[in-house]
Amino acid sequence: MTRPISLYVHVPFCTVKCAYCDFNSYAGMEDAMPAWESALLRELRLWAPVVAGRPVPTVFIGGGTPSLLEGASIARIMHTIRDAYALEPGAEITLEANPESVALERLRAYRAAGVNRLSMGVQSLDPDELQFLDRLHDADRARWAFDQARAAGFDNVNCDLIFGLPGQSLESWRRSLEGVAAFGSDQAGPDHLSCYGLTVEDGTPLAQRVAEGRVAEADPDVVADIAEWTEERLSELGYAQYEISNWARERSDGESRPCRHNLVYWRQGEYVGVGPGAHGFVDGVRYAVERSPMRYVTALQDQTVPLRQAQAGRPDLPSPAVVSHELVDPATAAIDAITLGLRLNAGIDETEMRERYGDGWSGVEAGLDWGVREGLLERNDRLRLTSRGRRLANEVFVRVLAPELV
Ligand code: SF4
Repeated sequence: MTRPISLYVHVPFCTVKCAYCDFNSYAGMEDAMPAWESALLRELRLWAPVVAGRPVPTVFIGGGTPSLLEGASIARIMHTIRDAYALEPGAEITLEANPESVALERLRAYRAAGVNRLSMGVQSLDPDELQFLDRLHDADRARWAFDQARAAGFDNVNCDLIFGLPGQSLESWRRSLEGVAAFGSDQAGPDHLSCYGLTVEDGTPLAQRVAEGRVAEADPDVVADIAEWTEERLSELGYAQYEISNWARERSDGESRPCRHNLVYWRQGEYVGVGPGAHGFVDGVRYAVERSPMRYVTALQDQTVPLRQAQAGRPDLPSPAVVSHELVDPATAAIDAITLGLRLNAGIDETEMRERYGDGWSGVEAGLDWGVREGLLERNDRLRLTSRGRRLANEVFVRVLAPELV
């Protein structure tokens, strides 16, 4: 069977740069949109022959704030993808949107271009928390944007929420979570929820404020209470958790729709990444694209830049904007299987991992045995995090991967 290949498209534009954000996104660069789009369309065409004939089950247009793009721009991107790649008829095509930058007409244009899943950055419904996060919308605008998405025909909508903000109480989080879970005229809420704990990333203005003592970090006990309560409450509300931070609503037909694109990452599937700062994983090679939008555009405009030649042991990396790459060896792949695959509630199949990674897998078995003994992992048909392990996931991964610390 021909291996599938997914597509990730990075849109680096935002209206403001949020203080906590370490994504590759830039405010005030809207003038560069046409040049970025031309470069992106060329990069998509350069990659297409490398993955020719491989079915594309998912496309994710992320950022940044892709909903700043006109419908016509998304239509041109989707046209190029359809024209150059083997896009599956039922492919999941996600676009990330912020509530302040969507309106019915634009959403309808996205839908007409083939986008069939919207991921909306709601983050909170509390005005003080939204201000702390530098978000430009309020609760009413978020609710309105969700209604617009439904009116435009989106029947698969995710909302992102962030918890673990400094000073945030369980009560405040409860209001946001339950408020979002009742979005829509039928109050049935979004089809999918992503609830992420805020992390203070190095190099962000938020990290600077924390270092200067102007912002206190969240109380870890409150954060743990919020995480535990969220699991229970979302289950009561009909959302099935399938990953540490992700829930899909069980619909009346019994179906639920997890994000198929993110499942590709967690299951170590392959994807072509295009756009400034995107990453890709093709034929066992991980690569990174130039982060600076201007250098990205220059690299793809310059037709004299020699394209990279194919070499034995690594695929052709046809984009002149690729700045680094590495061949993923079995030991690295085994580590990825743990830090990505164990995030899923379904866990991983150890027999399959042993077959796939051989000696690479042997190197992690002692750490996994430790995790089972400590009650952080459980083994039955598959290996998965226990509920306690899920809440301590990052520490569990560190200890599992460094058994000498155990
Ligand atoms: S809107 Fe999203 S991508 Fe843009 S700066 Fe804020 S958090 Fe980052």
